[in-house]
Amino acid sequence: MAKYADLHLHTNASDGEYSPQEVVKAAYKQGFSAISITDHDTLSGIEEAREACQKLGIEFISGIEISTVWEGKEIHILGYFLEKADRDFLEKLTEMKDSRKERIKKMVKRLNDLGYNISLDKVQEIAGEGAIGRPHVAKALLEKNYVKSIKEAFIKLLSPGCPGYVPRYKINPFEAIELIKGISGIPVIAHPGINNDEDLIYKLVKAGLLGIEVWHPEHNELLTNKYYQLAKEYDLLITGGSDWHGHNKEDTALGIIKLDYKYIEKLKRKKKELSLITFT
Ligand code: AMP
Ligand code: FE
Ligand code: FE
Ligand code: ZN
Repeated sequence: MAKYADLHLHTNASDGEYSPQEVVKAAYKQGFSAISITDHDTLSGIEEAREACQKLGIEFISGIEISTVWEGKEIHILGYFLEKADRDFLEKLTEMKDSRKERIKKMVKRLNDLGYNISLDKVQEIAGEGAIGRPHVAKALLEKNYVKSIKEAFIKLLSPGCPGYVPRYKINPFEAIELIKGISGIPVIAHPGINNDEDLIYKLVKAGLLGIEVWHPEHNELLTNKYYQLAKEYDLLITGGSDWHGHNKEDTALGIIKLDYKYIEKLKRKKKELSLITFT
């Protein structure tokens, strides 16, 4: 029987709807053989997911999705097979988490000034322990019926150029690659089709990028083919995933991307190579 994986999933450790355990269970029900949890700028969902995978007999690959910015554009860098985070890595994550909080505080204040009566406490309660972000603000707006959907909240208020938007401190993609490599992880550019900047990919490859997310719900057939070819051309690893957030993000669902297990084998081979280099 064909084995398949989903290497891009969010839990409530960042802005996903479900807990790591619930995400693993859902993936199990859909027949996935391997998964990775890739929460935004945090590793806090990893242990719970790893345990749940062990119980159900799913292969678990540790992961993260780091939000970065380059020339004003948002670039997401995935990291896989991360080893225990070192001090540099944890310090950066704490910095990112703190800046997320500060930024959301400012966004709530802006929205209040605009007449949207939502409280920071409520947004924080929605985020729980997880890395707080705009989807949590969107949910607070939805709960108060200021918008009809999370999508509407983003379109009207929370995207760049909208009245409620505040940018936040972000590292650049080159730093993210360094951080991931620093803990023997495999850096992969997430959904490159969204920005479609081949020039940047070329620069990132020179800086140590090892893979491209070819299959993603925001890639149509043309973009999928383009990035598949690019991966072959640069001899990069190929990944894919649904970017599932539960109901916190529309336009995707668990099960819509089924990455052939042969790509997991290739990732594992690369990981082995990296470990050999690190420890000899
Ligand atoms: P943040 O990291 O706080 O800037 O929030 C970014 C997250 O918001 C992304 O990872 C998505 O999960 C979500 N997001 C961005 N744009 C939209 C949109 N148009 N509709 C729904 N969710 C979105
Ligand atoms: Fe997200
Ligand atoms: Fe992303
Ligand atoms: Zn994502």
